[in-house]
Amino acid sequence: MASEKEAALAAVPSDAPTIFDKIIKKEIPANIVFEDEKVLAFRDIAPQAPIHIVIIPKVKDGLTGISKAEEKHCEILGYLLYTAKLIAKQEGLEDGFRLVINDGPKGCTTQLSGYLCVQRVTNLPSVDLDFKTIFAGQSVYYIHIHLLGGRQMNWPPG
Ligand code: 5GP
Repeated sequence: MASEKEAALAAVPSDAPTIFDKIIKKEIPANIVFEDEKVLAFRDIAPQAPIHIVIIPKVKDGLTGISKAEEKHCEILGYLLYTAKLIAKQEGLEDGFRLVINDGPKGCTTQLSGYLCVQRVTNLPSVDLDFKTIFAGQSVYYIHIHLLGGRQMNWPPG
């Protein structure tokens, strides 16, 4: 398998169906750890930590990446983060975890670090985000949050 950086540089940002669309349709298998009517979460095929889970909305709604987010997406984005917290608990990550969103082939990672702080967003628990922009790469153009845990994370993440 190509390295994450190679995969990111080779990926073409587009609305075309991705591997995650196929996982949602159950056309290809995935090790699913959480599913409800809005969200699907499964173990990453190339884990970067003892626990590495990818969390995606079941409806893409144009969200190929976080840089495409519009106000109409606030509810699902908040719900994805809330789900991440539920899954972290389910996975026994009481000592902490890291959430990562890669955006663009080599531009930015929006890093949501540490524990989540539940705050506003209509009728839904949302989160207070600690955004840090770092170098990274997105290889799948379907919005997703990486949940990483089970080891000491480094800072800066690189
Ligand atoms: P990105 O680089 O876009 O932020 O993250 C995409 C993630 O999807 C990578 O961590 C990669 O390992 C994972 N991935 C790519 N293809 C598959 C697949 O077929 N199954 C699973 N479970 N994960 C995948």
